[in-house]
Amino acid sequence: MEKRDAVAAGLMLPVMEAFYTIQGEGTFSGHPAYFIRLGGCDVGCVWCDVKDSWEAAKWPVLSIDEIVAGAKQYLGRKVVITGGEPLMYDLGPLTTLLKSEGFSTHIETSGAHPFSGDFDWVCFSPKKFKAPHPSIYEHANELKVVIYHQSDFDFAEKHAALVQNDCQLLLQPEWSKAATFTSKIIDYVKFHPNWKISLQTHKFMDIP
Ligand code: SF4
Repeated sequence: MEKRDAVAAGLMLPVMEAFYTIQGEGTFSGHPAYFIRLGGCDVGCVWCDVKDSWEAAKWPVLSIDEIVAGAKQYLGRKVVITGGEPLMYDLGPLTTLLKSEGFSTHIETSGAHPFSGDFDWVCFSPKKFKAPHPSIYEHANELKVVIYHQSDFDFAEKHAALVQNDCQLLLQPEWSKAATFTSKIIDYVKFHPNWKISLQTHKFMDIP
């Protein structure tokens, strides 16, 4: 099979980096996890801190067997698939293989492409720069909205109205705007107690 066809089938994927670390954000903050950062993103967030990931062609294309072999080197059995925008690819084959090897599968996505894959935890972080695909709303276990501008609170509520009732609702200050927005988020959550605060704790710990 040609490499391009294997990528289209989700049997090979461009991997920018993969590393074992501590999940710093969201509901699973503090848990050890193996992160697989796929290359390629067409969302274009102005404040993106992984702009290098945008161009998929820059990164090596690995088979899903190679990717899973990397994860198996470590003791932790949580895998977080992130990007870039990982839903640009069919994640069915990779997540099926990961689960057959005993991994719990998590994803961090803007939801900008049709949902695929077998996930134990879906972190949906919508972005204003490219609208989510409607398929994400029934799968999201966690809605994590990055607060970069005052209007992001309304943006967060708009998406909260579309996710399932048991979806965790999280507001997270964008790192460079934390001095401005952390106190506003604290006040917001006090008056809207269905929301919780998520912080990028890995940045405080100075880990990737
Ligand atoms: S969706 Fe993620 S990777 Fe893509 S531009 Fe936005 S922050 Fe960067």
